[in-house]
Amino acid sequence: MSELTRTNFIRQIVEEDLANGKHTSIKTRFPPEPNGYLHIGHAKSIVLNFGLAEDFDGACNLRFDDTNPHKENVEFVESIKADVRWLGFDWGERLYFASDYFERLHDYAVELIRKGSAYVCDLTPEETRAYRGTLTEPGRESPYRDRGVDENLELFRRMRAGEFPDGARTLRAKIDMASPNINMRDPVLYRIRHGVIHHQTGSEWCLYPTYDYTHPISDALEGITHSLCTLEFEDHRPLYDWCVANVSVPSRPRQIEFSRLNLEYTVMSKRLLTQLVEEGIVEGWDDPRMPTIAGLRRRGFTPAAVREFCERVGVTKADNLVEMGILESAIRDDLDANAPRTMAVLHPLKVVLTDLPADAPAEIIAGNHPKNEAMGKRGVAFGAELYIDRGDFAEDPPKGFKRLVPGGEVRLRNAYVIRCDEVIKDGMGEVIELRCSVDASTLGKNPEGRKVKGVIHWVCAAAGVRAEVRLYDRLFNVPQPGGGGRDFRDDLNADSLRTLTNCVVEASAAAAAPGTRFQFEREGYFVLDPESTPERPLFNRTVTLKDTWGKAQGARK
Ligand code: ATP
Ligand code: MG
Repeated sequence: MSELTRTNFIRQIVEEDLANGKHTSIKTRFPPEPNGYLHIGHAKSIVLNFGLAEDFDGACNLRFDDTNPHKENVEFVESIKADVRWLGFDWGERLYFASDYFERLHDYAVELIRKGSAYVCDLTPEETRAYRGTLTEPGRESPYRDRGVDENLELFRRMRAGEFPDGARTLRAKIDMASPNINMRDPVLYRIRHGVIHHQTGSEWCLYPTYDYTHPISDALEGITHSLCTLEFEDHRPLYDWCVANVSVPSRPRQIEFSRLNLEYTVMSKRLLTQLVEEGIVEGWDDPRMPTIAGLRRRGFTPAAVREFCERVGVTKADNLVEMGILESAIRDDLDANAPRTMAVLHPLKVVLTDLPADAPAEIIAGNHPKNEAMGKRGVAFGAELYIDRGDFAEDPPKGFKRLVPGGEVRLRNAYVIRCDEVIKDGMGEVIELRCSVDASTLGKNPEGRKVKGVIHWVCAAAGVRAEVRLYDRLFNVPQPGGGGRDFRDDLNADSLRTLTNCVVEASAAAAAPGTRFQFEREGYFVLDPESTPERPLFNRTVTLKDTWGKAQGARK
């Protein structure tokens, strides 16, 4: 049983409801609006809803909340299904659309009109707003509030038949214009909207129900027992309850609110994410810097790490801002345990071994994981010409530098100790090659009494494969982009992507399938991009080996 559901207050409510016989089994739902791709905040809701259903042998529906057709489309519907599946959840036969219920929602509206609990209102949108009042002032009753039932039925019929233009009339619930809760001041249930093609119902309707009316009734029609939503809907709960109490729906679901996930150094509002995509600030919804599920997947996250992250942040009633480090450590822990190791040189510097023994192996056998022998071994090509990273050589080493220096020694990981005898430069004075000699007695181990501190990684020049490596970093420079009234785009991190086009990787890594994850020894965790090919391998950095962000930020200041 998961940590998440073991500890949270929603689980306690469910346990009580099952223990005292209120329900014999539970049903939850995940209700995305198909107006964008899912993000890590949605993952929290998915893990909560599907996780509860799993843990209590209940069921969780996937329901598209598609009452706002002008921002919604089928691409979003399909991406959402793919992302929920990728996270490891299954809605079985239980795929629904709120638009499936348009006819029944309409019939319930007629029922409300017949009871005198809803009326057609001719106020314009601006007038409706002005009549609504404020937090401190009560609202005023619409002059159309006391229309007779027959007139309301006739006008509602004509609204559906398309006889009135957009904004001319609405259907409103007759509740209480003096309520301290603005949501209860005769809320709008239906709006007229001509000329939109709905992705499910086409042009069948010119009348669209509001979210506040649709959601509770959809829940009740599906027999949802616990309708979990984020805190901003707390003030809407009286209206939710009013809807299910005033129409003849088959069940009475209960709405329970929990805090949204907010994450540092990113944005989560779909409006802002859409802006990043549409303005070309990122390459698409699945750009590895996006907090979307598709972006995290392309970045190299595993479903297990995303779920683990959701468990670590838990479910509470208090809004808070979660540190990015918590997300990064969830994937780092997963990859540390599960990603095979390989060697990759990101900034290649050629090394020529001048006296390689005749019996030197052409291939060195290396373990794929230092703590897990079951992950096997691989052959790593070796030869007289290698690449090492430029950063592992220094002509004028800073104090404490333990890697290669002129006249100094270093161990090549899994291979020999070498000594730098000669530094070759081009006409500009740039180091282009190192000539090194080999200590033949050091293959794979230090002989008695011989100590060489530094160990560096390398790739065989003849067998290595050229690769592009994209170093992704946080998309924003500050924990709360757009805070303090700034434009969130002013907080973009200019170094969120650095592309290295001239890296060299082991042939076995280049040949792996897109989506395969590796630890590049001493460099970090990387994944083969979906667009990678064996001839032109393309790696995305998932996360660094250690959390260096805090330090780097400090240094930048
Ligand atoms: P936005 O306001 O940016 O459009 P939304 O909340 O309207 O986002 P929906 O597609 O309606 O997005 O959300 C589907 C479900 O996911 C809802 O139940 C919603 O409460 C939940 N959800 C959305 N964002 C978060 C978040 N940051 N943390 C937890 N749950 C979330
Ligand atoms: Mg929403």
